[in-house]
Parts: sequence; C-alpha cells; structure tokens
Amino acid sequence: MLEQLKAYFGFDRFLPLQEEIIAKVLSKRDTLVLMPTGGGKSLCYQLPALRFKGLTLVVSPLIALMKDQVDGLRANGVPAGMLNSTLPAQEANQVMEQARQGKLKILYVAPERLALTGFQRFLQSLEVSLIAIDEAHCISEWGHDFRPDYRNLKALRQSFPGVPVIALTATATTQVREDIVTQLGLNKPEIFISSFNRPNLTYTVQPKTDPLGSLLHFLEKHPGESAIVYRFSRKATEETAAELSDRGYSALPYHAGLERDLRRETQEKFIRDQVQIVVATIAFGMGIDKPDVRLVVHYDLPKTVEGYYQETGRAGRDGQPSDCVLFYSYGDRSKQEYFISQIDDEEEQEKAHTKLDQILAFCDLQTCRRAYLMEYLGEPWPKTDCGGCDICLLPREEFDATEIAQKILSTAIRTGERFGVNYLVDVLRGAANKAVRTRGHDELPVFGIARDTDADELKEMVRSLVSHGLLAQQGSGYPTLAVSGPGRTFLKNRDRLTLTRPKHAVAERQARYSQDTNNRDVTGRELAYDTKLFDELAALRLQIATEREVPAYVIFGNKALQQMAFHAPRNEDEFSKISGVGDAKLREFSRPFLKVITEYLEANGQPVNVQRTPVTAPKKKARGISMSIRETKDLIGQGLSLAEAAEQRGISETTIRSHLERFVQEGGQIDLTHLMPSDDRRRNIEAAFREMGEARLTPVRDALGDDYTWEELAVVRMDLRQRQGQGVG
Ligand code: ADP
Ligand code: ZN
Repeated sequence: MLEQLKAYFGFDRFLPLQEEIIAKVLSKRDTLVLMPTGGGKSLCYQLPALRFKGLTLVVSPLIALMKDQVDGLRANGVPAGMLNSTLPAQEANQVMEQARQGKLKILYVAPERLALTGFQRFLQSLEVSLIAIDEAHCISEWGHDFRPDYRNLKALRQSFPGVPVIALTATATTQVREDIVTQLGLNKPEIFISSFNRPNLTYTVQPKTDPLGSLLHFLEKHPGESAIVYRFSRKATEETAAELSDRGYSALPYHAGLERDLRRETQEKFIRDQVQIVVATIAFGMGIDKPDVRLVVHYDLPKTVEGYYQETGRAGRDGQPSDCVLFYSYGDRSKQEYFISQIDDEEEQEKAHTKLDQILAFCDLQTCRRAYLMEYLGEPWPKTDCGGCDICLLPREEFDATEIAQKILSTAIRTGERFGVNYLVDVLRGAANKAVRTRGHDELPVFGIARDTDADELKEMVRSLVSHGLLAQQGSGYPTLAVSGPGRTFLKNRDRLTLTRPKHAVAERQARYSQDTNNRDVTGRELAYDTKLFDELAALRLQIATEREVPAYVIFGNKALQQMAFHAPRNEDEFSKISGVGDAKLREFSRPFLKVITEYLEANGQPVNVQRTPVTAPKKKARGISMSIRETKDLIGQGLSLAEAAEQRGISETTIRSHLERFVQEGGQIDLTHLMPSDDRRRNIEAAFREMGEARLTPVRDALGDDYTWEELAVVRMDLRQRQGQGVG
C-alpha cells in the first residue's frame, strides 16, 4: 500500500487513520469516516479504488470541485472521469462509454443523476466495486447542508448489494452520524472518527475597533495568499470587497444574491488564483475545496460555533500554518439579538439564543480557544497551552483588580442593577450621553470614577467579573448585570481580587504575536527554503497550470515547491523524493522543474538556505518573498527593463513580471513610465481591459492580436491598478 501511495500520490506515509480505513474498505466492510477538512478523506477511497478490480463510484454534491478532483487524479496517472450537469451531452456519452469498457477506475457522479432511470440502467452495466459517498452529512436534515437528492442514495445502495460503501463527512455531531448510517442503510459499519483538532490553524479574536485596519494587517501577513472574509450581509460583502479593491487588493464579493454565472466565475477565479480575496456571506464555502487558503476572517460575529468551526475549517486544508481571525463587537451582538427577537417560533428562538450565547462565550474566553472548540465538538482535550490561539500565544499577567472591581460593582448597585455592560461602562467613564442624563446618573458619585480606563479594557473586566461570579447576568436578550451574593460579600469584606490581562500594550502585542505565528510550523520543523528559487518554481507551476487550464495546486502544492526550493534536487531520483511527486508527476514534470532548478543553481550557486536556520532568524516565507519582490521593484524603479532586471537577478522575466504584479496588487506604487507602450497602443490596451475585465490577460491578447506583447498588456494593467489604488486610497 505504501508503494502505491508513493507511486500514485507521491506521499511517503499515511495521515492518521487513513491506513486503518483503507484496510477496512479493502476487506469490503461498510465504513463511515468522520474527519475534519484537510484530514485526507479522499485518499480513503481513491487508494482502494486502485486496488479493486472494477470501478469506484464517487457521489459528490460539489459539482464545482469534481473537475479539479478529476484533473488532480489524472495528473497523478489515475484514469478518472465525471458525470454532471456541466458536461456537454457528447462528452458525457464519451465518459459513459469509457466506464462501460472498464477504462475508468474512478467515476464521480452528481447525486441528481441517480434519480434518472436511464442512469440507473447505465450503472447496472458497470462493474462497481466500491461506492463512496462524499459530504455524507448532506443526507441528514439535521445537518447544515441537507440535499434532497441525497435521499436517492439508499436506492443506489440497494441496487448494489454486496458492494461496500464508504461514507465520508467533516460534520461530527452524533445526530448526523446516526442519520447517515440509517439513511444510507450502512451494514454494520465500522465508524472512524479522527480528531477534529486542526493543529495548523491559529485562532484569534480581536475587538472590532478598527476592523478594516486589522484586516489589512492580517492581509499583509499573507501577501498574495488566498483569503476568505466572511460578512453578515450581502451589502457588507460588496462594501468590503470595494474597500479592499480600492487599496489595490484583488478582491471580489460573493453572496446568494448574485447571478449564478457570476458566482461560479468568482469561485473559479478564486480556485485558480486569479483573485486573491473573496468577501462572502456564508453562502460561499460549500464547493470551495482550495487547499491553500491561508486566512479566514470573520469580519462580523458568526451565528453559531458550528458555523464558525466549519468556516474557519476552509483555511489550511493542506496542513500549512493558516490564520483564523474573528472581529467581535457588542454592536454585532445586539444586531444578532435583534434578528433572533424576530423569530416567531419560540423554540427556535430559544435555540438561536443558546447558540448565540455559545459563540459569545467563545469570543469572551480568557482561556484557550482551541480547548473550547474541542470541548464543544465533544472531544477530550488536555488542558495545555495549544500554542495556536491568541490566548495561548499571548502570555497574560496577573494584576490587582480590587479597586476597579469595587468601582464596577458599586456602579452596578448605584444604577439599580438594571443595565447591561455598555451602559455601565458609559457611567464608569463619565459619558454624559442622553440615556445617562435622563436618568440623572451623571449626578451619581460613581459617575466617571473609571474615567482613565479604556472602554474595551473595562468591558473585558466586566466580563471577567461575570466569569468570576461576582456579577450575575440576567436575561438572554439584552442581559442586565446584577451584583451576585459573592459580589456583595466581596464588597462588604473588602476582599482582594486578582485578575489577568494581556501582558503587553496592544501594538507591541500584535508585533510579537504575528512574529510568533510566522515562526511556527505545524510540524515544528522549519524549511528555510530558498525563496527566490521558490518564486521561479511557482512561476513555472503557474505557466503549466495555465496551459492545462487547471488550478496551480493540481500540478504541485506549495509544500512540494518548498521542498524543491530547499533540497534543490538535481536528478530524477532526488526529484522523486519530494512529497507529492508520484510516478506520473515524475514523468511529466521532473524535466521542466529540474531545468529551472539547474539553471538557477548555475546562475546563483547553491541555494542560499541549504542548512536549517535557527528559529529566531527572520527568514520567513512571507517575508522572504516580499524581500525578493522588493529587490525586483528597486531594479525596475532604477529604470531597468524587465529583461535587464531578469538578467541582473538571474531569474526569468516571467518571475520579474509576477513580482511586479504582486507588488502592485499589495498596494505598492512604482514608476512604470519607461516600460509603457506608446500612447495610442496604451489606449487600445486600456479599452480592451475595460471591455474584457482585468482578471485575465488572455482574452485581451486574443482581442488585440499578436502584435501586442504580454509584457505590454501586463504593464498597462499594473498601471491601471496603481491608478485605481491611488484614486481612493
Ligand atoms: P479532506 O477531503 O479530508 O478535506 P483531502 O482529501 O482533500 O482532505 O486532503 C487534504 C490534503 O492532504 C490534500 O492536499 C492531500 O493531497 C493531502 N494528503 C492526503 N493524504 C496525504 C498523505 N498521506 N500524506 C501527505 N499529504 C496527504
Ligand atoms: Zn490555545
């Protein structure tokens, strides 16, 4: 099995549970696999498919992804095909013919096909040896993503008695799990549940004081890398996408109100790295199987912890370190409370309240966020520093909170214990607003007694007092705060109280924190690869992917390129050791990639980082790439042409161009005058961009003809982008 794992998929070992699952499937038992996103579920049916004699049928609702899955398999030398509504009839017939002739090992089908009697007959004509049901939770009405078509699967099961079924999902709740087993009619299934911890994700919650600023800060941490920003409303997605575009980022909105074709196009662009950021409502996600999303931001408060876990789960499927950030404000909380108050059904309303309370508790945590998530998912979690959430990464310090606690509790008592946190903080800070004045609370002796403490800090302390039981929250809609029995005792006895708070001032904190996460690697290992070589390899990857019209990761994942840029393999044998290089990819790609590596070594000597650098060295990928970009930018800024800059740096022109594009995309400004074509040519190119859109160069080049060079087009587009960025930001 290990041999096949390497030969077809290029991996050296199994991920947790994969081997056990595959063994069970091969023994023809029904199996149910519960694994988080990125856990490596696909391999659990793909490898058995290669070992079984006939065909493996894979049912998946994610039509948008099927093509990528099939492309990926084919790139690995696995004969695979798909049948869904996006396929022209003629191609579909071809695929069916191939399947009938036993030429396919894996066939992906969309669930709606299964209801058609003609299709049933077609299936019966095949030698099916395994049925895989992907996203199996779609069969359950309890799940978050019920698909009526999935009810046809029971019939499928019945028409292939004796053929083992493997059902896979990333949804873990017991109810859904039981539903899958009954609805699919699984026969004494072996159930595999892997840990739902996502060790490569770092969870952060920030007060929503300057959300756009914070968002930009996190985007800077991930230059040019894919990001999803979730927003509460359709309108908000468009606003944020526009704000990001104004600052030179490539960002598009996505929500259910957009035309279907446009949505598909956006999704497609995201998967193919033609747009960096998608700002979306939660309608975006199903169908996004991009492995290298490095940042997921919840710009507004999510509705439930489940939803939050699912959405953040879209980050870092490839196992590489990724960030999940949530901006939290009391305003968002009130907004959701308002929506909940509009729910008619009382039971539903109660449920929604409970869910809201749970996500609020998550935001308010002063203890490890991962521990909370794991507990929520019903998984035991040792109470240790997870090293991957803002709480664990930020050491807290104890401080004497006696006086501030007395002030807060007294203010609650003086104002009649009828108000919520915002009002208390207003009185404490001496905000003489209308609400406070009409009640005469500006006359109280407690008015303004905590004037010198920051409002957010005060709010956090109020929350601490609640969690320490000195204040009691009452009511769930707009909870009011009353002093509890222990709170009264505390005041009466003049007890002392110690609380904790973050150790550093905010700015210093963020600097430290981003450094910490940049330095970390999931495996604890650090590949100090040559970033310049990585860029070259990435440019080649992009070129091949574009020629074949597949996403870049179908060719090689970032991890594979990093390994190449670290080990700098010189021959096929060394190349074959890279993770992700199986037989097919070795055959097809070793030559062009080895060529780039060899040429690079000739021009530059050994890779600059052949030995591992100590963890403290500021030699980070993100940083490294942007250093390299900066170098390119400086040369162009000195008036060099692309060819001259390429020569000077010993890298290709394509790479030089992609550096400049990245630099401009990230909002940088550079003088391109000496690269610009003549005015009339420029005008023609600009007109073509206006008509065809800026996302891709090919349509523009097709429209203008060979007389125009790629370089000209790219330069004019950069110039356009720079001017757009300047106009607003
Ligand atoms: P899931 O469907 O569970 O979200 P995937 O099947 O898409 O996960 O796998 C996630 C990532 O892990 C993919 O990039 C895949 O290539 C990679 N992967 C799967 N199995 C292995 C393995 N044994 N070794 C290394 N990487 C693996
Ligand atoms: Zn933690």
